[in-house]
Amino acid sequence: MRRPVAVSSVLACSLAVLLGAASGPAQAWSALGHQLVGELAQRHLAPATRAEVARLLAGEQRPTLAGVADWADRLRDLDPERFKATSRWHYVNTPPGQQCDYVAERDCPDGQCVVGAIQAQRAILADTTQPLETRRDALKFIVHFVGDVHQPMHANNHDDLGGNRFQVSLRTDLEPEAYARRNYVDGVMGTNLHSVWDYYILGTEGLSLPQYADRLDALPWPPMPADGPGTGAAAWAGESCRLIDARDVYPPVHKMDAGYLDHFRPLAEQRVRQAAWRLAQVLEADLGD
Ligand SMILES: [Zn+2]
Repeated sequence: MRRPVAVSSVLACSLAVLLGAASGPAQAWSALGHQLVGELAQRHLAPATRAEVARLLAGEQRPTLAGVADWADRLRDLDPERFKATSRWHYVNTPPGQQCDYVAERDCPDGQCVVGAIQAQRAILADTTQPLETRRDALKFIVHFVGDVHQPMHANNHDDLGGNRFQVSLRTDLEPEAYARRNYVDGVMGTNLHSVWDYYILGTEGLSLPQYADRLDALPWPPMPADGPGTGAAAWAGESCRLIDARDVYPPVHKMDAGYLDHFRPLAEQRVRQAAWRLAQVLEADLGD
């Protein structure tokens, strides 16, 4: 089956849909990044909120926030029709040359973007008249999308499908996921900037989920950016977008190695921690006493 070279992650999901591919990788922030967001948030929930999360997730194979964090990506295989219908919910793109400030009518027609999805699913989650199954799915979507919107490539204003079209040759010891192994030759991976952010920056740290969560959890909660325009998910998308140019996330050349990954790992970890903190706040607001 045809698929863009080495495209991974959430946005890739959508890209694959755009390009007519029927299956492919199910990663974004890689599973690890999403699981970290879920795990860190869960550790900081109030007892009543944690109990409500457990009640909603009862019956899941992995009934924790970390356990369901990559479900929205795994829909690709679990329920391809539903994946297709929700593929635009993983990202938002601001037109090239525009400010990063989110404009719903322009950037999210019909609510079909990550900001609109978070807002809509939060309304479902907080509505106790909704069926339990509907609220459970809303919770699983929210855990995932709060992670996505903090990944800078998922709220991008460069004209390259969220970095998916910015090709990169990356020297790394970390083997790619199985689907992309043919693009890994002599320690060099043919990939793109979106995948670098989804998979390689955190993955090359070489830690398991519990190890990584313990390390990040030992830090104080990260500084929260001053309120930009908008609130909630719209503001978080604006932050992600602004980081891209403010921190020179696009490299001047298309070759990179561990130097790039090491340089940006603290920023990626900060975005994971900010996402976790905000996810906990969201769940306290929507499910707490
Ligand atoms: Zn996603």
